[in-house]
Amino acid sequence: MQAAHSTPRLHEAAREPDFIEVIGSREHNLHIDKLEVPKRQLVVFTGVSGSGKSSLAFDTLYAEGQRRYVETLSSYARQFLGQLQRPDVEHLRGLSPTIAIEQKSASNNPRSTVGTITEIYDYLRVLYARAGEQHCHQCGKPVQAQTAEQIAAEILALPAGARATLIAPLVKHRKGEFRELFDDLRARGFLRIEVDGKAIRLDEVAEGSLKLEKHQKHTIAVIIDRVPVSADNRQRLVEGVELGLRESKGELEVSVESAGKGAKKQAEAALTFSVNRACCGQSFPELSPQSFSFNSPLGMCNACNGLGTRLEVDPALVIPDASLSIRDGAIAPWASAMARGEGWTFRIAESVAKACKVNLDTPWKKLGAKKQQVVLFGMAGQKIAVAWGKEGSESHGTFGMTWEGVIPGLMRRFRDSTSDTAREQYRRFMREIACDACGGRRLRPETLSVRLAGRSIADVTTMTVREAAAHFDALTLTGARGQITEGVRREITSRLGFLLNVGLEYLTLNRGGPTLSGGEAQRIRLASQLGSELSGVMYVLDEPSIGLHQRDNGRLIATLRRLRDLGNTVLVVEHDEETVLAADHVIDFGPGAGHLGGKVIAAGTPEEIARHPESLTGAYLSGRIRIETPKARRTPKGWISVLGATEHNLKNIDVRLPLGVLTAVTGVSGAGKSSLVNGILLPALGRLLHGSLEPVGAHRAIEGLDVLDKVIAIDQKPIGRTPRSNPGTYTKAFDMIRELFAQLPDARARGWESGRFSFNVKGGRCEACHGDGVVKVEMHFLADVYVTCEVCKGKRYNEQTLSVRYKGKSIADVLDTSIDECLKLFEAVPELKRILTTLVDVGLGYVKIGQSAPTMSGGEAQRVKLSRELSKRQTGRTLYVLDEPTTGLHFEDIRKLLGVLQRLVDAGNSVVVIEHNLDVIRCADWLVDIGPEGGEGGGRVVAEGTPEQVARVEASYTGQFLAKLLR
Ligand code: ADP
Ligand code: ADP
Ligand code: ZN
Ligand code: ZN
Repeated sequence: MQAAHSTPRLHEAAREPDFIEVIGSREHNLHIDKLEVPKRQLVVFTGVSGSGKSSLAFDTLYAEGQRRYVETLSSYARQFLGQLQRPDVEHLRGLSPTIAIEQKSASNNPRSTVGTITEIYDYLRVLYARAGEQHCHQCGKPVQAQTAEQIAAEILALPAGARATLIAPLVKHRKGEFRELFDDLRARGFLRIEVDGKAIRLDEVAEGSLKLEKHQKHTIAVIIDRVPVSADNRQRLVEGVELGLRESKGELEVSVESAGKGAKKQAEAALTFSVNRACCGQSFPELSPQSFSFNSPLGMCNACNGLGTRLEVDPALVIPDASLSIRDGAIAPWASAMARGEGWTFRIAESVAKACKVNLDTPWKKLGAKKQQVVLFGMAGQKIAVAWGKEGSESHGTFGMTWEGVIPGLMRRFRDSTSDTAREQYRRFMREIACDACGGRRLRPETLSVRLAGRSIADVTTMTVREAAAHFDALTLTGARGQITEGVRREITSRLGFLLNVGLEYLTLNRGGPTLSGGEAQRIRLASQLGSELSGVMYVLDEPSIGLHQRDNGRLIATLRRLRDLGNTVLVVEHDEETVLAADHVIDFGPGAGHLGGKVIAAGTPEEIARHPESLTGAYLSGRIRIETPKARRTPKGWISVLGATEHNLKNIDVRLPLGVLTAVTGVSGAGKSSLVNGILLPALGRLLHGSLEPVGAHRAIEGLDVLDKVIAIDQKPIGRTPRSNPGTYTKAFDMIRELFAQLPDARARGWESGRFSFNVKGGRCEACHGDGVVKVEMHFLADVYVTCEVCKGKRYNEQTLSVRYKGKSIADVLDTSIDECLKLFEAVPELKRILTTLVDVGLGYVKIGQSAPTMSGGEAQRVKLSRELSKRQTGRTLYVLDEPTTGLHFEDIRKLLGVLQRLVDAGNSVVVIEHNLDVIRCADWLVDIGPEGGEGGGRVVAEGTPEQVARVEASYTGQFLAKLLR
């Protein structure tokens, strides 16, 4: 080992190398002979999209770390994890245990919340179990359990000289003879009992002779002792109370007679004590952390099983367009049956119409409330006749059925169906609503009535991180409760602090895991790692700055440094300029993407990178290259107005978005950008223009949509989930290539058509892998793994098909060819050339035309989608919506992306992006800045106008940053 790093280190650290040594790294496009990644530093991997950053960070370093970890497990554990593939690397030395903090693995578990993911909820449960005060949920009184000592003390507080009779109730109103009970009591020396209110001395009835009427209900108690109330008798009282509680399993009655009444004493008072928590005829279980878990039967609401929601059919989804008649499809679940005009559903519709005198051709909204009601909710008890078969034919007949109504019918089938596909169909008409029993709080009433500092645990989880932090800072628990809970309280406040530090103060603790954005989920995980205080670990993060406004970047960077200062290696794949500049060490990948990349161009401090003549990143950092701000801004050609928007945190705002220009919606994380664009605008347009049934976020009206004919959301989701999708199939270029192959003499001679060259249909493909080229191996607990098909060696086709060649290339060879080369290969085919050119224009020339969808990065998928749009004939009336399109993109990629977006606008279209990247923001024609803060403190329009105009608005955080840039 070379002593390359000679900085003095701790003793312990001196024994292990100060860097991870990577030798011969060849995963995917990598061509790295030797690389040293310093340990216990903040290291940033940067470079254009597709240059190989993730291939090294995730697919090599993290993958190998995982693999070595799995190898240390017992063979029993290993069998469940399967064989992890070794990354393609000759040698890795000095690897630490690795933890990846990714964006994508946001929890889809409907039971997860911000509180559970961060473990704050686990600590809250402990805190409430130890220090919470139980109240009866029916009468509101405190429920308390008493100890024998406490009960005795209460008896001793009675006037001196009184006599206390301790009575242990044994049987309450139960049928039976109870002979054995009596014999047992006698055998154990008890003398007095009470049976149905009558005192009986056991020594006065013969053994075995006392028995009760078997079929009647009886109440039996045993008298433990009668004690004069006096401090001298304290010990005797305590023992009596304990014995009584034991006999009765926790309850004790005490009848009190005052002193000096002679023989005719009368009970003057009766007290009841219990070590069981009881009130209003119900006993309350002892509190444990599980009592507060909505995943445990002890804590969960019985009505919703702790989900907090239930599904309900939403009439608005069933009748998306009330101006249609039933025949024209007013009732969405019937629409296709009505269009076909036959089949079972159609018959039922006809019969219902006949029985209820509903005209199938009347627009739904003109039917009247009563008839609508009958169709949707049925006719209780009344039968209708349903006909089947052709009238007059042998199979014709009718039978009677009760009309249950469209909505109850959907609900029933959703409940009873065992097929996921069918359930998904019904699910489309449903909406989640809060559970009525718990009001969405997920817990049972007994749990919800436990309070600490006046708040139930659900009151705390409805707080935002910021509010909860303030609540716990102010919370002082005194005495024993304070002592036992101090540690727990500290865990809670420190975790809340980490969440504040990563800019998530606006999230509520009960916010569901599945509703978090990728960036939010990642930052939560980052915050949780700080809580774990691990050291000596290598953390690998993928663009933690995603979703974060420039304003909050500093706090995120401070968090990353803190993770490093705990003694960890923090390896971040990132393009954000501020983060790159904050790194201890930068590794710049390139020079290009795919086979044009895969090398390390420069490594060193940010300053060294900036000076490096060959580093593209350096060129941007130093300003040698920059994305030019457009000289002039386009003038809007019209407006869309969203009026009265109240979805999530939006404050009943009116927002106007210009048409015919590039608009950026900006604002800090949680400001309400997605609520506006993805929550209201997109689904509203989807409904109007494409007949989708997606629920639309709360707003009053949207105006000005009539000039649009299409809305297209371009996201970074894969272009397909299986290896069957690729850029060629997605852009239809491959269809043309197959046509071309079918025209070749060799193919025509055999009568082969284009289907022969498809890997999706039988005939030309390899049947061993059904044309996938790979075979899926399912892994327990882990993502599926694909291995190359042994029969076709990954070529996807059978031998005969492969014998047909175009310019020397088989169809399989074509799939394995980069788009750049395909363009040369197919130059003579105009239509194909046009599609391939747009793929090259968006910077995807390096990608193989057959590269399978699951292996493409989010940025690559996004650009494939954009290129398909560019290659379409433009109507000039399309609205494109992109949510943080710069995710995964380097400065250079952003320059290309902006070029594509500007082209779409030049063709007359409108583009709306949600974006934090200042390069994009300053190049937009128009900005709508939402905020000013995240969550409740946001939801308003802070500024709108050209970047120059917004830069002058001091209240706008975006404006403040723009002002510096545009100066
Ligand atoms: P970056 O992280 O720099 O954007 P990647 O490491 O994701 O780049 O990708 C480097 C190259 O390897 C790209 O050309 C990409 O398409 C390719 N690639 C990534 N994952 C796979 C995979 N699973 N199989 C084949 N090629 C892949
Ligand atoms: P942005 O896109 O500007 O980051 P969002 O529109 O995602 O902001 O969030 C605005 C507010 O609405 C935040 O307080 C956020 O926590 C809340 N919010 C967003 N999505 C949901 C949801 N599915 N359920 C409840 N609250 C949500
Ligand atoms: Zn419930
Ligand atoms: Zn095969």
